[in-house]
Amino acid sequence: MQIIPLPAFRDNYIWLLRQGRLAVVVDPGDAAPVRRYLTEQGLSLAAILVTHHHPDHIGGIAELLADSPVPVFGPARENIPGRTQAVQEGDVLQIPGIDTAFRVLDVPGHTAGHVAYHGDGLLFCGDTLFAAGCGRIFEGTPAQLHASLEKLAALPADTQVYCTHEYTLSNLAFAAAVEPHNNDLAERTARCQALRAEERPTVPFSLGAERLSNPFLRVSEAPVIARAEAEAGCPLNTPVEVFAALREWKNRF
Ligand SMILES: [Zn+2]
Repeated sequence: MQIIPLPAFRDNYIWLLRQGRLAVVVDPGDAAPVRRYLTEQGLSLAAILVTHHHPDHIGGIAELLADSPVPVFGPARENIPGRTQAVQEGDVLQIPGIDTAFRVLDVPGHTAGHVAYHGDGLLFCGDTLFAAGCGRIFEGTPAQLHASLEKLAALPADTQVYCTHEYTLSNLAFAAAVEPHNNDLAERTARCQALRAEERPTVPFSLGAERLSNPFLRVSEAPVIARAEAEAGCPLNTPVEVFAALREWKNRF
């Protein structure tokens, strides 16, 4: 199976999985780049996977369904137009003609019903985990998003993460403000700057690299706690408090 990034809007990636003559798309916020690719490559759409209800993730569903009425998998606790299969934690998706089976993870926080799809070492996590960052908390609580990120971080280190925005360089700048002496972070920043200089995606990335350089996955590390406390101006007594302080700081960074 090949996985292709289809750039959309300013900084979204619509992920397209292809096997043989079939394709599956994740979070098609815009139908146009998907249609163009399917036509150019002579592929048929087999299914649509949706992580959450934001317009830049669902905006293209209706047009794609008008072309071909395929199954649409989406979170049970959100309103997804065109959804045919409501999914939640523990469900396993098997799409006819596609070898990879995907297990559903509930990852609330960015939105209330956000889900992620995990299978064969691949993770499609929408706007929950980004390279060196995480989504904003629009509908959930810091405790929820923290727990969701911990759940994702517990997957195997070689898991390849396909998030839906190219926010990496700005996230790395924030991460460097949190941990100015983190060598893994400095090396990753150099690699990602080189990729972006050639207009190449920094996504996917491995969870192993993420654990070494994403401050939101490092809220139990002493330097991260100390820096978050300095910024918050008060002691932070739990990982969730550190996480909430970092997320708050990032919002105004
Ligand atoms: Zn979103």
